[in-house]
Amino acid sequence: MRYNVSVTSEYLQPEIETMPVEQIREMQLKKVQNIVKKAYATNAYYKKLLVEKGVTPDDIKVYEDIQKLPFLEKKIVRSAYPFELLMADQKDVREYHTTSGTTGKAIAICATQQDMDNWAMVNARELWACGCRPGDLLIMSFAYGLATGIGFHYGAQSMDMGVVPGGIGRTEFLVDLIKDFGVTTLTTTPTYGMYMVEKALEKGIDLAHDSKLKNGLFGAEPWPESTRARLEESLGIKAYNEFGMGEFLGPGMACECKEQNGMHVWADHILVECINPETGEWVGDGEQGEVVFSWIGSDSCAMLRYRSHDVASISWEPCACGRTHPKMGRILGRSDDALSISGYVVFPSKVEETLDHIKGIGNNFRMIIETVHEKDHLTILAEVENNDILNNEVEAAKLNKEVVSQCKTHLGMTPTVELKPAGSLPRDAEHGKTASKRVEDRRAPIV
Ligand SMILES: [Zn+2]
Repeated sequence: MRYNVSVTSEYLQPEIETMPVEQIREMQLKKVQNIVKKAYATNAYYKKLLVEKGVTPDDIKVYEDIQKLPFLEKKIVRSAYPFELLMADQKDVREYHTTSGTTGKAIAICATQQDMDNWAMVNARELWACGCRPGDLLIMSFAYGLATGIGFHYGAQSMDMGVVPGGIGRTEFLVDLIKDFGVTTLTTTPTYGMYMVEKALEKGIDLAHDSKLKNGLFGAEPWPESTRARLEESLGIKAYNEFGMGEFLGPGMACECKEQNGMHVWADHILVECINPETGEWVGDGEQGEVVFSWIGSDSCAMLRYRSHDVASISWEPCACGRTHPKMGRILGRSDDALSISGYVVFPSKVEETLDHIKGIGNNFRMIIETVHEKDHLTILAEVENNDILNNEVEAAKLNKEVVSQCKTHLGMTPTVELKPAGSLPRDAEHGKTASKRVEDRRAPIV
């Protein structure tokens, strides 16, 4: 095995995974400084971005100085297609990937041998954190091809696991292989995982009992806790959330540990920031914001401060597993959906999440923002679960107060709340499925 570790170790790389936070930050700063220096000297495209922002490599002295670097928006990285952001010599590139290009021109991602080794390492680290050990057998059932799940394939082999390169398709056959080969670990999307369960049951195979599956890493699409419960029960596994983006090769950026409450972002590989999408400034630890990634483990590419436009929280709070790398919460939506109300940034997805946790509140709501006495005002219309409560003035007032108080805690601001009968608000089908479609902004547009 490429890693010098005992199979009884909780961590594949204890010295990295449990490194004190101060040391992690020092290491991150050094890596950023090196990339900026190298890019400034060798990459005209990135140098131009620095010059436009009025920054030189000498300006990056302390950790906070990272904020001086320009953000990379998707359109900037796209315009660098194919190799403008490449710092390495093209003859040293061992693998070329691209993003899907479904929403415009693709982004090219290049990996040198060192990048390939690092990619295998972070994927192995994830598999290990989720309970895999040498001798286990992985079925890699993300699609094979450009910027997909191949990182898991390399990662598993680097820690002496076997790999069945299953991909997606011929599902009944894959189910047979899982059973006949003694596959222990599944990596795929939650949707395809559930499809496998369905196909297996049609064949009379109950994967929870008829296979050796013990764990699975799922990603590439958002999935709620209820899906985790279904995957765990129907496959007889522990199901972990994994995160990767095509712009950074794919899987291996962040993964859950046994605690299953947030994904550790591998801080020696990826530097993660969480910003207010309107101001670009850092938000507090654990607060919702737009997640920004820097590929600081990269040998080949100046991919620093890439705005993902995904909304989540980042926290450096210590984790019970002992790992010190920051944790990213579930992705709650897109920062493009952020609303600015009286100086507060409010995500409709956060309102949805807040209401979801209040007993007695149903699953439909509307947000109305209007100007009252020249100030922004937010009103939340929330359906109750059971209409009986609306006939009980005392209970209804109590529930209303609870909603206001929870919103104050989780949104930072105090809305007016109106409870509505179940089924009385417009339904999803007419107004779109995402939380942002439930917003009615009646403020005069800024001209
Ligand atoms: Zn942990």
